[in-house]
Amino acid sequence: MSLTDHAVLIAGGGPTGLMLAGELALAGVDVAILERRATRDVIGWRALGFHARTIEVLDQRGIADRFISAALVTQTTGFATIRLNISDFPTRHAYGLGLAQKHIERILADWVDELGVPTYRGCEVTGFTQDDTGVDVESADGKSLRAEYLVGCDGGRSLVRKTAGIDFPGWDATGSSLIAEAEFDEEPEWGMRRDAYGFAGFSRPEPDGPIRAQAAEEHVGKGDEPTLEELRAAIVRYYGTDFGLRGAAWITRFNDTTRQAESYRAGRVLLAGDSAHIHSPMGGQGLGVGVQDAVNLGWKLAQVVKGFSPASLLDTYHAERHPVAARVLHNTMAQIALSRINDRTDALRDIVTDLLRMEEPRKHLAGMISGLDVHYDLGGGPEGTENAHPLLGRRMPDLDLGTLMGPLRVFTLLHNARPVLLNLGAPGACESALSAWTGRVQLVDATYGGPWELPVLGAVPAPTAVLVRPDGHVAWVGVGGESASTDGLTAALTKWFGEAIVP
Ligand SMILES: Cc1cc2nc3c(=O)[nH]c(=O)nc-3n(C[C@H](O)[C@H](O)[C@H](O)COP(=O)(O)OP(=O)(O)OC[C@H]3O[C@@H](n4cnc5c(N)ncnc54)[C@H](O)[C@@H]3O)c2cc1C
Repeated sequence: MSLTDHAVLIAGGGPTGLMLAGELALAGVDVAILERRATRDVIGWRALGFHARTIEVLDQRGIADRFISAALVTQTTGFATIRLNISDFPTRHAYGLGLAQKHIERILADWVDELGVPTYRGCEVTGFTQDDTGVDVESADGKSLRAEYLVGCDGGRSLVRKTAGIDFPGWDATGSSLIAEAEFDEEPEWGMRRDAYGFAGFSRPEPDGPIRAQAAEEHVGKGDEPTLEELRAAIVRYYGTDFGLRGAAWITRFNDTTRQAESYRAGRVLLAGDSAHIHSPMGGQGLGVGVQDAVNLGWKLAQVVKGFSPASLLDTYHAERHPVAARVLHNTMAQIALSRINDRTDALRDIVTDLLRMEEPRKHLAGMISGLDVHYDLGGGPEGTENAHPLLGRRMPDLDLGTLMGPLRVFTLLHNARPVLLNLGAPGACESALSAWTGRVQLVDATYGGPWELPVLGAVPAPTAVLVRPDGHVAWVGVGGESASTDGLTAALTKWFGEAIVP
């Protein structure tokens, strides 16, 4: 079969690629996924869940319940395993989800299938060339596909990133661990042990299911295919016995290599998820950051492909998301340092644990790890103008609104991944300002009398109108009571949703 003329091709159908495909499909873009794996099976042990902001972005598309009903709903936020309770944060989802990556991918893949996105499995991207109008993508089975844009969601060893010549600077691994689904003649010691190199432990995630073993290695291990003997050596180092290790269905290795793509865009080629940033799994942030990359990029790429916005809109993707992942890299490196076992690090850890019992430090770190404090720098005017409003660039809270259609949640208005201008002032106040964007931006007259509260920041002044992007971030804030000013609204609409089209 010859695959040609998709507007966007996504290399890699992991969590990031799947989320991006869903976002593009919702925006009406012809998108296809090229995935190397022949089946949906996820080999090895990867993410075990995600945090509050990722639940929120899934809620913005109306699919959070699919994950919540399959997951363990619990407090998952932590810093170097020091627990941070977020149950007092102002969000509908003041918790995290415990859910294995194979289930996360299954639920996302079902959604993407429902949206009609073709996924070509057993299709490994081997190279591409780009010109002024598109990208020709080659796959291992000899296909040549052309698209307007290619997005590399192909994981940490990204072929797309390397072929695009994008540098991946950072830090080499300082430690590695083996994880396996293994068989033992004797019952192993359940629970975890910790030493100067990291953790070891045994668990049985499902009753009567296979045993999961994890053990840190004494020296940074190399290679993708660790051997049974390497696993045995790591277990014996912790326990003095291998508990009769007989065999393993799979053994994988992970480490704390920390790197970030210098640029998330090279012409018509973009990177998202692990292809753009890798770091230690400590804190469980990687999958969520990839999903949120996809939600930031999807609507922008759709606007460009549909001709509403210039390609330069795509540069705001790098500008907004690169700093977010840089902060994740930074906090995972700090968590690794704080997890080392020696007397001095233990003393430091005691002090950090004490600090994190205090309100402000706990909220600061919990906002960062949960992703609820994400703030894009969208510019803004001097203090005191509407552009300096604290909502600008932050996530829009999921308020309960009164509307002509009845009571509605803000997130419900985002299910179709279209921007919303929420007028909370006099009915009709924003109508004329929006007329040249009708069809591209939904206008909703609404009432809301409750508090405006953001995680970490606390209470913020109530606005009279808010322009919300499809990713749920606030692009413009109107202030000024009943006689609300729409100053700056035209500029924001043009910047984010393209030039005015006079009806
Ligand atoms: C042990 C461990 C525990 C973790 N725990 C957590 C956690 O609890 N929470 C969390 O948020 N994150 C966690 N992570 C990180 C998380 O697993 C990753 O961040 C996440 O999988 C990234 O998703 P992705 O779609 O960007 O990349 P990947 O999941 O790597 O997906 C890339 C996809 O691209 C495909 N592919 C690769 N090359 C090609 C090619 N050339 N052509 C076509 N397809 C290709 C691959 O088959 C794969 O399907 C953990 C990671 C590890 C290793």
